[in-house]
Amino acid sequence: MTNHDSNIMNDRNNEYSLNEFLRAIHRFTDVRQVRKNIFDIYSEGLYVFNELPGTIKSALFTIMDELPDFELKLTKPENIENEIISYYDKLLNSGHIGISLNSATVINVSLKNIDNSQGSVLIIPLKKSRGINGIILVFHSNESDDLAQYLIRLCNVFSNLLGSSIENYHILNQLEQSKAILEQRIATRTIDLAQSRRELKAVFDSVLTGVLVFDVSINKIVRVNPSACKLIGLQDSEIVGRSVFEFLSFVDYTKIVESNGTTENKYYDSELLDASGKKVEVLRNTIKIRLSNRTLITESFVDISKIRAAERALTETNHILESKVEERTGDLHSIVKKLKQEIIEREKVESELRKMYNQQKELGDMKTRFVSMVSHEFRTPLTLIKSSAQMVSRFESKLSESDKSFYLERIVRSVDNLTDLIENVIFFGRNESGKIEMKISEFDIKNMLFLIAGDFKSGRNVNRNFIISCNTVSSNIKADKSLIHLILTNLISNAVKYSEEDTEIEINIILETNRLTVSIKDYGIGIPETEKPRIFDLFYRAGNVDSVGGTGLGLTVVKDTLDKLGGTIDIHSATGEGTIIRVRIPISYNNPEII
Ligand code: ADP
Repeated sequence: MTNHDSNIMNDRNNEYSLNEFLRAIHRFTDVRQVRKNIFDIYSEGLYVFNELPGTIKSALFTIMDELPDFELKLTKPENIENEIISYYDKLLNSGHIGISLNSATVINVSLKNIDNSQGSVLIIPLKKSRGINGIILVFHSNESDDLAQYLIRLCNVFSNLLGSSIENYHILNQLEQSKAILEQRIATRTIDLAQSRRELKAVFDSVLTGVLVFDVSINKIVRVNPSACKLIGLQDSEIVGRSVFEFLSFVDYTKIVESNGTTENKYYDSELLDASGKKVEVLRNTIKIRLSNRTLITESFVDISKIRAAERALTETNHILESKVEERTGDLHSIVKKLKQEIIEREKVESELRKMYNQQKELGDMKTRFVSMVSHEFRTPLTLIKSSAQMVSRFESKLSESDKSFYLERIVRSVDNLTDLIENVIFFGRNESGKIEMKISEFDIKNMLFLIAGDFKSGRNVNRNFIISCNTVSSNIKADKSLIHLILTNLISNAVKYSEEDTEIEINIILETNRLTVSIKDYGIGIPETEKPRIFDLFYRAGNVDSVGGTGLGLTVVKDTLDKLGGTIDIHSATGEGTIIRVRIPISYNNPEII
């Protein structure tokens, strides 16, 4: 056979092989579409390369992402793994596999350079989207130069197809796995979700609080729980789809919807209108919820009508109690007022009783003092009278005339003292029983005072110098003579008693048409300032009187007499310096000729 003949033959053979090769590729694409498992792809892929003219044997290696080395997956014919692996190692060592992989192209290597044997081997890298995912070795009888270049190019193209098919298979496989995992997860989530929904619904349905969920965008109630149905008195289906404000008092949702917060935790008193038209007091809470792009309003409410009624009853009871308390307080106030009044009256009575008791006591004291005074003041002059009379009668012959007159004068003086005392006592007694009557007569007052002074000087043997002066020539007045005499006698008697013998007693008379003023001045012991207010008290005697005799009756008689006459008395006195006592008595005086 000539070269030309052999070329023609080769061409024919190649043409035949090309047809087989293309048919095998076609078959591969069919298989690829069906794609049972990866080994079908390997097998069908290797089958395609087996259809290359002169192919003796072939092998497919794959590289896994996680493994750095190629792994023999399939040989054709079968059971030549050892031989193939041996060649693989040789080709690796010779660097041919490296060249093919680096350039990512098919190379045809003569076996002569490998183990000095006949034929050649095609090293075909399988390409995936990024990198290499396998290698195919095709051993054929042709020498390396004999294999037509277009077949090698075709091998290149198919290797891309096979590589991408393997990659696709793996990707799809992984995708399916991921899908299965995802589906598993979705199923689990769905179960969980359903469970949560069931639990939430159970809670939603079991709470005693009525709940209405309102979708603001469609202006309708979208959910209602059994408690709300019960409170409203309608079925779930009769409530859903209606407006909230058919059942609850109006609330401006726009503010709540526009507010930033998702919830409003304010509870407020509101009213629910139930199916029968009855208004029920409720404690209400309006909350905004945002679910994706939906704005929902949750209205929750509890019936507080009983609580509010109880509160109202309590308030009413409180009011009643308060008004009763007020009423009782008023009663108490008036009782307290009455009691206070009673206490005041009792205190008044008590003080009156005390006063009466004191008066009684004072009366008792007075009686005691009167008895002791009388016994003393009466006994002294009586003793003097008796002893003087005895002296005169027993020793009449032996006594000288002057002795006799001494005793007789002493008798007279004692009688005078007794008379003064008795006069005071009589006045006092008569005044107490209201038996004193005024007897107006005309008399000479100056004369009366001279007589009293004379009486003291001669009658009572008082050696005193009385200085009597009067502002008028005539001193005839019309008045009660005996009462004025009683006043002046007492005052002059005191002036005499409470001053020394060698001091004067000055008596000044001032007569006016309707008033008599008599001042009696002495230079005696005086009246202590603190005791002045009491010297008009019955039986009262100042502490500085010492042994000077007295009853404490005189000034009381003077005061009472002056009261009777409508007169007044004033005293000017200083201890150790003397006393001026001035009396003013209404009189009638017709001859006011001033000296
Ligand atoms: P008595 O009998 O004690 O004089 P009175 O009632 O006449 O009683 O006077 C009351 C008291 O007033 C006297 O005890 C005395 O202490 C005081 N008294 C009255 N007059 C005088 C006087 N001229 N000088 C000093 N003391 C006087």
